[in-house]
Amino acid sequence: TIYNLGSINLDHLYQLDHFVRPGETMASNSYQCLLGGKGANQSVALAKAGATVKHIGAVHHSDQAVLRQLEDLGVDTSLVAQLDVPTGHAIIQLNKQAENCIILYQGANHALTQEQVDQALSTAEPGDWILLQNETNLIEYTMKKAQQQGVKVAFNPAPMDAALTKQVLELVDLLIVNEVEAMDLIGTTDIDSTIAAFPKVYPELAVLMTLGKAGVYYFKGSETVFAAAFSVQAVDTTAAGDTFIGFILSSLMKGEEMKNAITRACAASAICVTRLGAASAIPTQDEVTEFLAK
Ligand code: ADP
Repeated sequence: TIYNLGSINLDHLYQLDHFVRPGETMASNSYQCLLGGKGANQSVALAKAGATVKHIGAVHHSDQAVLRQLEDLGVDTSLVAQLDVPTGHAIIQLNKQAENCIILYQGANHALTQEQVDQALSTAEPGDWILLQNETNLIEYTMKKAQQQGVKVAFNPAPMDAALTKQVLELVDLLIVNEVEAMDLIGTTDIDSTIAAFPKVYPELAVLMTLGKAGVYYFKGSETVFAAAFSVQAVDTTAAGDTFIGFILSSLMKGEEMKNAITRACAASAICVTRLGAASAIPTQDEVTEFLAK
């Protein structure tokens, strides 16, 4: 089983001629409400990749449709708390230039309790994985609990909080960062020196560093693996990283070698970027197998 302690958001998307200005009231050209949050996206990716995934999170008790949507996509939501706190949400303005402007309300994502985590992990077994991002509370607490139970910890520190990340690194079995997160953690603005620095600064840590269309690095001690990204026509890179993470962990859980796991995850995220949207753009494992057979 893969546990995923992560955010569940409702993304309210408004297309506008221009961003709303101070004092202005403006009708939007369109409205969509989509399931979002890195946590939910990664749970969907794990499920589509064929993993047994139990999401640990929280929503407002009136938002049953969100839970149903996750269940329909194959995610077990029995460990999602239903609280009297608003579901996390984002108010997203999209202008004509496709730029966005976002208000984020963390809501229930930051109302997780230690009792909830304790209970969720009480059925975990050694060899299970737990995945976390940085969009909920109780990151360090959960990692400590997991480690005590022999559950392996994968951490995607997004959005990056360098202080928190450094503080919990010794609890992490696999760190997954994108280019910006990697540079923030090392404290440079240059990607080449970041790549060179990682294995030196963190020699004990297993790290996957995704570099968009440039591909992905894996570092562990003296071992370095580089995999190029697949060449595709990208239309929307939303959820590329979430797809990568879901597929890599699902493969590792099944006992795949890291190299093969990386190839599958690169293929899955390459398919993702050829499609519009987040959760809906994540491919199934059959689609990935078909893509790799070509
Ligand atoms: P994030 O979405 O977290 O910023 P990245 O942009 O690094 O993550 O993307 C994650 C992975 O998705 C990359 O390692 C790569 O394999 C794949 N990917 C991203 N963008 C492209 C692209 N334009 N073409 C092909 N693959 C891509």
